[in-house]
Amino acid sequence: MSSTWIDLSYIAVIVLFIFGLKGLTHPRSAVRGNMLGSLAMFLAVVVTLFASEQFDWTLIVIGIAIGTVAGCYLAYTIQMTAMPQLVALFNGFGGLASVLVAGAYLMIVVDDSPQASVLIATAVSGLIGAVTFTGSIIAFAKLQGLKFIKDIRFSGQKLLNLGLFLAGLFFAFLVFKQPEHAILYYWLMVAFSLGLGIFLVISIGGADMPVVIALLNSYSGLAAAATGFVLENNLLIVAGSLVGASGLILTQIMCVAMNRSLGSVLFGKLQPTGGDGPDADVVYANVKSTSADEVAMMLEVASRVVIVPGYGMAVAQAQHAVSDLSDYLTEHDVTVEFGIHPVAGRMPGHMNVLLAEADIPYEQLKEMDIINPTFEQTDVVIVVGANDVVNPDAQNDPNSPISGMPILEVHKARTVVVVKRSLSPGFAGVPNPLFAADNALMLFADGRDAVVDILSALREG
Ligand code: NDP
Repeated sequence: MSSTWIDLSYIAVIVLFIFGLKGLTHPRSAVRGNMLGSLAMFLAVVVTLFASEQFDWTLIVIGIAIGTVAGCYLAYTIQMTAMPQLVALFNGFGGLASVLVAGAYLMIVVDDSPQASVLIATAVSGLIGAVTFTGSIIAFAKLQGLKFIKDIRFSGQKLLNLGLFLAGLFFAFLVFKQPEHAILYYWLMVAFSLGLGIFLVISIGGADMPVVIALLNSYSGLAAAATGFVLENNLLIVAGSLVGASGLILTQIMCVAMNRSLGSVLFGKLQPTGGDGPDADVVYANVKSTSADEVAMMLEVASRVVIVPGYGMAVAQAQHAVSDLSDYLTEHDVTVEFGIHPVAGRMPGHMNVLLAEADIPYEQLKEMDIINPTFEQTDVVIVVGANDVVNPDAQNDPNSPISGMPILEVHKARTVVVVKRSLSPGFAGVPNPLFAADNALMLFADGRDAVVDILSALREG
């Protein structure tokens, strides 16, 4: 393949990637965006294979076969609620690939006096890739709810992180400064960076997790871009930069949404764990429960209703039932809106995706800043499987792990019905005083069953 055709194909791939990313910015065009991205990646692989002058077909075929089997297995078997963990794993594997490719390349070229630029790119690729790999594995474990990972915090952690970072930088410098021992220094740098990834993410939890996930996503792109410089592959540089830049933008959006600065997420004070929070028995002393019939009676006389979805709606797959309830109420002259918190669920845009899947009109979805001033005029709020994003302690308790996180102020509505299966906490692991508020009623049930029962009661009533 001539270099002109390769470059032209790469430009086409890059344009497809950009249109794919653009498509992902709206639920309506997200599927098309995904298809364009997949097509671009397929073309990228094919063109790169044909562009290479020498490679071992057997190894390539074995690699593609393993990747295809693993990818298809995961895509077909993964639960929708486990998607964020899968994304975290993919980020991590991207980082690991950068470490291995840059390391392997260094081993090939080290005896031929590689240029300083190649050595620097190799070190950057290995350093960021290794942090991304272990950081993402820890993020995966936290999203998976593995308790032994969630609570690891100790004093001196920041100092340790600083030490690991400086050690990583030192060996990265030696890779460039003393190329004759570059391989040894490279793997030492990788070892310290792997440690840094673990200890950087292990103490972060609660409201800060979404920021970390977005940041790791960005790191995986930056590592790939650095690998592009190592291999002198323009496509990898551009594609990695696209991932890095979009991840950074998402990180910024998440920081603003969570009212946090990036510095305070990564280097801020260690937040107390859920175990240090208020005693759940005390908080929940006056909880009142209700039934689907009672909720239906309240809805019959309501004129404005807001539905607040959370992670539990995803677990219960209640979005279609919620959509049916919303349609019924709208047909009966009730104003129905949805309050969308930017970090509800387990990935950015999680609720938007689910509600779009259930064909709920976009006009009904209201962002936090828009919906919050309306709660005082709302007759009934139905919280479906949300917890942390409606926890008033984020505003009232400075020691809470979610302190400072903006919330949906559902407690200001006339009545709040909270649909969940028990009083167990959400992701941040803290009790929620909303459940015991004077105007709150708990409907203990699976999210989907509860909404279906409310609708049946409305229809029968
Ligand atoms: P939470 O995790 O705070 O709470 C979810 C609630 O859903 C639980 O209390 C659970 O209670 C309930 N639930 C689970 N299954 C069901 C079911 N089948 N039916 C009904 N209810 C159910 O969710 P939120 O959406 O309020 O908050 C998201 C949290 O996740 C925040 O802390 C955020 O920081 C964090 N996070 C968000 C990410 C993002 O990008 N969006 C990424 C990583 C973390 P019960 O078991 O009693 O039913």
